[in-house]
Amino acid sequence: MATLQTGFLDDEAARIRAAGLHRRLRIFDGPPGPRVLLEGREVVLLASNSYLGLATHPDVLRAGEEAARAYGSGSGGSRLISGTTRAHRDLEEALACWKGGEEAVLFGTGYQANVGAITALAGPGDLVLSDELNHASIIDGCRLSRASVQVYRHRDTTHAAQILERERAAHRRCLVVTDGVFSMDGDLAPLPRLCDLADRHDALLMVDDAHAVGVLGRTGSGTAEHLGVLGRVPVQMGTLSKALASEGGFIVGSAVLCDVLRNTARPFIFSTAPAPASVASAGAALRIVRTDPDRRARLAGNGAAFRQGLRAAGMRVPQGETPIVPLLIGGSAPALRFQEALEEDDVFAPAIRPPTVPEGTCRIRASLMATHTARDIDEAVGAFAKAWRAGPGVAAYTEGGAGGTGPSAPASS
Ligand SMILES: *Cc1c(COP(=O)(O)O)cnc(C)c1O
Repeated sequence: MATLQTGFLDDEAARIRAAGLHRRLRIFDGPPGPRVLLEGREVVLLASNSYLGLATHPDVLRAGEEAARAYGSGSGGSRLISGTTRAHRDLEEALACWKGGEEAVLFGTGYQANVGAITALAGPGDLVLSDELNHASIIDGCRLSRASVQVYRHRDTTHAAQILERERAAHRRCLVVTDGVFSMDGDLAPLPRLCDLADRHDALLMVDDAHAVGVLGRTGSGTAEHLGVLGRVPVQMGTLSKALASEGGFIVGSAVLCDVLRNTARPFIFSTAPAPASVASAGAALRIVRTDPDRRARLAGNGAAFRQGLRAAGMRVPQGETPIVPLLIGGSAPALRFQEALEEDDVFAPAIRPPTVPEGTCRIRASLMATHTARDIDEAVGAFAKAWRAGPGVAAYTEGGAGGTGPSAPASS
């Protein structure tokens, strides 16, 4: 009987709602610009990963249209069979050159790139060290690898060193994996120290630069360039899906690393190649990233102006050099109320709740774009200030209201 077989779904749905963790889809009409129509209402959008505003750039759109006409709407096969067009190869070459590696391997998504690379590089008998705030796709790659996974405290290289001293000798290979920019906090991995650690313990360092590609570094190539360790990160992961305004993921590294990935990474082998239009659009976005540093500068300026505005209104947000600005709230219910208050003032910035962030660290996560105007930012700051005064800014919430990554304000529900 159907009710017997599916009754657990009602229980599961009720459990999610009771925990205040239910989510629903929001429908946007139009591209991810600084303002967008959200369910019939124009809002300032502080929730797009299209950091440079390139998803609407005429060159990017044109490249996608031309590639669709030249190669078809879909790639028609997996990378190793018939899905690799000239557009795929051109982009891989451009990515490798930009990120300072010998070759690049393009996957359908960043999620697949992480799962594919980690499972190809570590297996039973190996050791993987992973930052506690790494992205879910890294966590899933670690789990699927069946390696011995050790989680070190966020950005804590002393802790990582202790684990390596204790565990390294008992394992065959060792992979150290970290986000370059942490997606829910906007802070940076301590790459120079991680490079030293990896050298000292004969470990392979892998950096997920999803949020840094196009955003950080002199040529926008990411955290390694930004932190002065270009050439010292052997496995560089990135995505086409954020600043590059498309979709897809990639690994850049040595020729032999890429050869092994092409032959062993299961999401590369067993999933359809990304669509030619996506690939060509990302290629056009990459050309803009490399030739127009002003966009990066505008993005950095907008991030700084927004942080400054929130601070001036009494909110504590962490120092940062990325366009990701987290405002820590604490509990799920007050975070949701905050998001709703913002929306009433035509600003959209999402409440981020478990499982995306640890229990008790619910936050509003704002992300800036290079194309936000001073007026957009003023309006957004005004809406945040109002929501803050009406909720977390009063009484019990003010202590430790934001900053860092630990739990702070108590949940009110
Ligand atoms: C977005 C993101 C991914 C996944 O990339 P997709 O292309 O969206 O699959 C991986 N790692 C981090 C840190 C991310 O923020």
